[in-house]
Order: sequence, then C-alpha cells, then structure tokens
Amino acid sequence: MLGGKLAGDGLFTKRCNQWLEKKFNARKVLLTTSCTTATEMCAILAEVGPGHEIIMPSFTFVSTANAFVLRGARIRFVDIRPDTLNMDETLIEAAVTPRTKAIVPMHYAGVACEMDTILDIGRRHNLLVIEDAAQGVNATYKGRFLGTLGQLSAYSFHETKNFISGEGGAIIINEERFIERAEIIREKGTDRSKFFRGEVDKYTWVDIGSSYLPSEIIAAFLYAQLEEADVITRKRWAIFNYYAQQLQPLQDREFLRLPHCPVECHHNAHLFYIIMPTAHDRDRLIPFMAARGVQVVFHYIPLHTSPMGRKIGHSDGDLPVTEDLAPRLLRLPCYFELEKSDQDRVVTAIEEYFQSRR
Ligand SMILES: *Cc1c(COP(=O)(O)O)cnc(C)c1O
Repeated sequence: MLGGKLAGDGLFTKRCNQWLEKKFNARKVLLTTSCTTATEMCAILAEVGPGHEIIMPSFTFVSTANAFVLRGARIRFVDIRPDTLNMDETLIEAAVTPRTKAIVPMHYAGVACEMDTILDIGRRHNLLVIEDAAQGVNATYKGRFLGTLGQLSAYSFHETKNFISGEGGAIIINEERFIERAEIIREKGTDRSKFFRGEVDKYTWVDIGSSYLPSEIIAAFLYAQLEEADVITRKRWAIFNYYAQQLQPLQDREFLRLPHCPVECHHNAHLFYIIMPTAHDRDRLIPFMAARGVQVVFHYIPLHTSPMGRKIGHSDGDLPVTEDLAPRLLRLPCYFELEKSDQDRVVTAIEEYFQSRR
C-alpha cells in the first residue's frame, strides 16, 4: 500500500508535494517533519548568520524566532495591527538596518498580512520575505495562496492545524535558485534526491543539512487529509460563521471584539478568537467557562516578554499593541468534530459571563 517504502520521499510524499504545488500554484513544495523544521530550512537557505537581523512580530509562536536565533541572528520584533493582530506593515521599514536579512510575516489565524506592502519593502531593501504560513494553508491574499507570496515559506500539519498528520509541515520554495540546495539540506546535506532521480551515480555529503523529511506513514496520513481538504474547510467555515453570528450581539454592545478579515483576504477558519475588554476579564472568563464544562485556551505570551526574549535583550513596553491585546485574547474551541450544541454551550457561557459582570 505504501509502495514498498516506509522512509521518506516515496509515493505518498510525492503525491502530497504535487497536490500542494498544484492546488496552491507553488513553484516547489517539499514535505518536512514540521513547520518548525521547514522554517529552520528557510533560515539556512537564506544564509542567515551572526550579525544578521530578522524582522518579525512578537505575537507569534516560538518557532518563528527560534529558527533564526539558532543561526545566530538577532530578532527585531515589530508591533501588530490592532485589527488583524498581524505584523503592522507600516512599522517594518523603520526596523530595517544594514544588517537586516529577512522579513518574516506570520499570517495569524489564516488572515493574510498586508503582503503587497511587505513584498515591496523586501524588494526595495533587497531582503527576503519568508512567510510563516503555519496557520495559512488554503487561505488567500488578493486571490493568491498564502505561502506562495514570499521567496520561501513554511506550512504546518501539526494536529492543531486545519490539515493534519500529527506532526508535519512543508517548505514552499517560490524561487528556482533555492530548490537544489533545499533538497540537499533536507536530505542530511547529501545529494540523495539527485541520486534517486538518476542524475548522479552515487550520493555523498555536499553541504550542511539535517533529516527534515517525514516518513511515508506521515505522508499517507496527510494525503488522506488533503483529499478531504474541501470538506474540512467547509466544516471549519460553518463553525467560524456560527460563532461570528451568535457572538455578534455581544460585539454590537461593545462587550467583546470578534476577528477581523480585510476584504482582500480569504481566511481558512483556522481559529476563532475573542478579544475581551480587559486582561482581568480574560483571566476571569477562563475558570468561569471551565465551571460550565468549556475548556478554553489562549496564546501567545509575546516573545519579547518571554524568558528567552529577555535573555536575548528584549523587554516589556517595546510593543504597546501586542502587550495590550495578547493578554485579552481568548481562543474558542474550533475543530472538525465540534457540534453546534457544543458551540451553543460556549456562546451561552460567554453571555452568562457578561450578565454576571454587570
Ligand atoms: C503551529 C505553528 C508553528 C509550528 O508548527 P509545527 O508544525 O508544530 O512545527 C509555527 N508558527 C506558527 C505561527 C504556528 O501556528
């Protein structure tokens, strides 16, 4: 069934790569073991090293930063937009220095960053744009799929994402010049991919690299998810829209704020969050909902205020919008098996919270 191959780059890995390339119109896609490792590959391909600076939001997952810190680069965190919680494109240019090597936008909740502006800054300053599209699989910006806009990008198929393989990811390579080296880095720094294609008669160590490719078992699981991509997306949209509709009255009364998606973006219903009036309300709502049988979680502790962020020289007070919104954000349950009755319970708990608050 797996075509006699359990290690990576067999039939199912190829099917996944090709499916992703075709569906999203990407130059080259290679499955990886995670979005984290795909981003690490991007950092190697971008030749990021000590003395370089990388511009990114602080309101993101640790892997966005780690991939570049691992190569010795310094992170320049930029504040987010209050409406989408994406990196504020109007603040990027001021963060560019002669040491800047790349801009790393992260598409929060599958809502695209203002990519025309970001790509233009990249072009004018000769910087790479590397998308953290972990949450942006199957979402678009002005009709183009996220992950295909920057020179390099990373997708995640972690179990918390829309299309899953437990752990898993992909690197998207949108410029020809990176393809050959990407294949080598992904195969432990060897030219094994060329060997399999019969382009060389033996394979050997030619560059740095690691084991960034998943096994065929992972790829087979993922391929089954990709075959159902439209079904999965439709279900997630229904969940998202139901929350949005049911919670609209609370937003109208200015009790909370719902997600915003600019007209030029089509998101993928990756997650549903609410912004509470204060951090105190957010922290009180969590046990209030738990007492009604609803588990809710939040993210992210802004990277610049985290223990590691401090260690690398960042501090509180640097990014006012991030620091204001991150502690007020709450994620609502949003997964394929979620029933309408579950959602009703979530909405009722939130309504009851605001009734009790008055
Ligand atoms: C999930 C996520 C990652 C990490 O993905 P893995 O596949 O678990 O490595 C990176 N960045 C963002 C923004 C994410 O949401």
